Amino acid sequence: MQSADFIEIEEKYGAHNYHPLDIVLERGEGVWVYDVDGRKYLDCLSAYSALNQGHVHPRIMAAMVEQAQKVTLTSRAFRNDQLPLFYKELSDLTGYEMSIPMNSGAEAVETAIKLARKWAYQVKGVPRYLAEIITFENNFHGRTTTIVSFSTEPLYKGDFGPFTGGFLTVPYGNIESVKKAITANTAAVILEPIQGEAGVIVPPAGFLKAVRQLCDQQNVLFIADEIQTGLGRTGKLFAVDHENVHPDMVVIGKALAGGFYPVSAVVASSKLLGLFESGEHGSTFGGNPLGAAIARAALRVIVEEKLVENAALMGEYLLDQLAEIPSPHIKEVRGKGLLIGVELKPEAGGARKFCEALAEKGILAKETHQHVIRFAPPLIIDKETLDWAIVRIREVLMQK
Ligand SMILES: *Cc1c(COP(=O)(O)O)cnc(C)c1O
Repeated sequence: MQSADFIEIEEKYGAHNYHPLDIVLERGEGVWVYDVDGRKYLDCLSAYSALNQGHVHPRIMAAMVEQAQKVTLTSRAFRNDQLPLFYKELSDLTGYEMSIPMNSGAEAVETAIKLARKWAYQVKGVPRYLAEIITFENNFHGRTTTIVSFSTEPLYKGDFGPFTGGFLTVPYGNIESVKKAITANTAAVILEPIQGEAGVIVPPAGFLKAVRQLCDQQNVLFIADEIQTGLGRTGKLFAVDHENVHPDMVVIGKALAGGFYPVSAVVASSKLLGLFESGEHGSTFGGNPLGAAIARAALRVIVEEKLVENAALMGEYLLDQLAEIPSPHIKEVRGKGLLIGVELKPEAGGARKFCEALAEKGILAKETHQHVIRFAPPLIIDKETLDWAIVRIREVLMQK
């Protein structure tokens, strides 16, 4: 079968909730992927940053195979010998005392919301069920009914109400509006340190620090959603580290298991995570030994292969090179580490056709919203490969 055959079957039998580029992949290795027609591409999306370690990383694969032959799922009704070590190693790496494992990013965000609410009632003294959480315009935190309740993207909310209450939305990057939105009932502020899905929006310098200070003054929790920006993507372990900020909770997912498996988590202090009592929250698959073993290996790869440092170096180089392209279509090049957005002028006619042209040349990137091309290759990428890509990106962006 060729690409067209697979696409026909997929369109017929699958829900159309995505609009993928028509490239049917069958194999991946490192920064490269191969389609069923034998073409090779550089992956510049990394599954929305779930593949920071690259495709089918041999060490993570070995850990997966080894664990899969022993035991894969115990449920949390019993203990297993991988989860404790996952907790400990995650704590050692992040500096947070405790964590709670989930599967998808959205579930971990939900977990953070539940914990913030419980804290508000039990610790802060907010009257029951009046807790408020401040969110930001153009946020992306996932797709559950509660999470889309505070999305500002009409497409994500569509016909999916009624929505969950208790959320306010303020402009991103504007500390004065956060200040104004805080009341005695505010439990938390939740934000992405860089808004990836919104088009790689970097807040003004000092914003994250200002949020931290405000939260301290007002007794409000600061929740950072680092599902996309975390684990090295921006050239620091967490994107908040660029401003030396320590949120009360950090939500991670995606690259936490190197693309092999869905593993997410919330990391926080023991004071906070200690608020959950047995039976109050859970997940059949969360914390399973297969996921835990894979995540342990995925974290080791990030540290031992110095992916954070490489993301900083390669990211700076790529950003500089992209910024030098004298394309009439480019409005702005921005980002941190290997999370880079190239925003095109509205006259350019949308980013999609540029992504299609890039694919023709062997580079897979995806438009985010209408006018931004996101470049986020695996963090294992080297300079030689980037140079190969930059020549092609330049050609595409210089086309009329
Ligand atoms: C991808 C993402 C999520 C949702 O993760 P899923 O695993 O798709 O549920 C939440 N927040 C951010 C910032 C993300 O990039």
